[in-house]
Amino acid sequence: MNTIVCTKPGLLEHTLKDKPSPLEGEVLVKIKAIGVCGTDIHAYGGNQPYFQYPRVLGHELSGVIESTGKGTSIEVGSPVYIIPYLHCGKCIACRNGKTNCCTDIEVLGVHRDGGMCEYLSVPESAVVCTEGLEFNDMAVIECLAIGAHSVSRAKITSEDTVLILGAGPIGMGALQFAQVEGAKVIVSDVRQDKLDFCKAHYNVFGTVNAAEDVNAQLAILTEGEFPTVIIDCTGNAKAMESSFYNLAHGGRIVFVSVIKADITFSDPEFHKRETTLLGSRNATLDDFQHVVKCLRDGTVKCDSFVTHTAKFENLINSFKEWVKPDSGVIKAVIEMD
Ligand SMILES: [Zn+2]
Ligand SMILES: [Zn+2]
Repeated sequence: MNTIVCTKPGLLEHTLKDKPSPLEGEVLVKIKAIGVCGTDIHAYGGNQPYFQYPRVLGHELSGVIESTGKGTSIEVGSPVYIIPYLHCGKCIACRNGKTNCCTDIEVLGVHRDGGMCEYLSVPESAVVCTEGLEFNDMAVIECLAIGAHSVSRAKITSEDTVLILGAGPIGMGALQFAQVEGAKVIVSDVRQDKLDFCKAHYNVFGTVNAAEDVNAQLAILTEGEFPTVIIDCTGNAKAMESSFYNLAHGGRIVFVSVIKADITFSDPEFHKRETTLLGSRNATLDDFQHVVKCLRDGTVKCDSFVTHTAKFENLINSFKEWVKPDSGVIKAVIEMD
């Protein structure tokens, strides 16, 4: 089968590999669409720490069940999305249902070979049936699931006013799932064009330009009460730290971002609000199923952030263009016949 391998930073090469056959409990997926995100771009750029080459990239994968191994129940021909976080099923996190933070987590396209190829065999527990969705639309499922997980971490309800920090694909996912729960949503970003996009596409309660005085803008929007939930999707330490000062008393902060730095905050500020601070990593099967359901019934849109598409045959050349800083890629999708 045709496969594209990242042999070293900056180099993608075409190679032919054997078509895998599914082992017991596994299903063989014929890949139909591959979403490209920051992880792939950083791996290609060589700035993904602890990344091992050669590696087949690609973890945002949708396709069709081609064949099934022993002990599986899904039907051949079913359209599926692959959950890219493979978990051990035995560790303390897995035993407690938190497969998204398994101690031995293996992410497709990162710790083991991903989906820039024609076929991939994965455990049946790693596929979600996506009947009724378009393959290209499915490329955004991971971003949406990560956003949905952060919303479920904060147990958001219609009583909440939620501030989303960072209007990238994950922030836009969190925004939509907070709205699914009925919350009022305010979005903050340093880029006015992104805020305008959110205003135009989503029914946001307000926007805050992070280049200006955020606290003052929030005070006006919330009549001095401040957001009851802040979800950080920026990957920026200053933005993350600002959460401790811009939160309502009794509120919750969720850090979806991960940065290679220490985060500091004033303990009196933390204490006086009785702040709840939550991490949010990856997403679980429940989150993926919730996303598929919301896409199906139209409560969540997926058309808004795919900016670039290419055919698998042109992947290597397209990728070179997409990784350029001025390419304008929010989300790119590679289509396969
Ligand atoms: Zn991704
Ligand atoms: Zn585990």
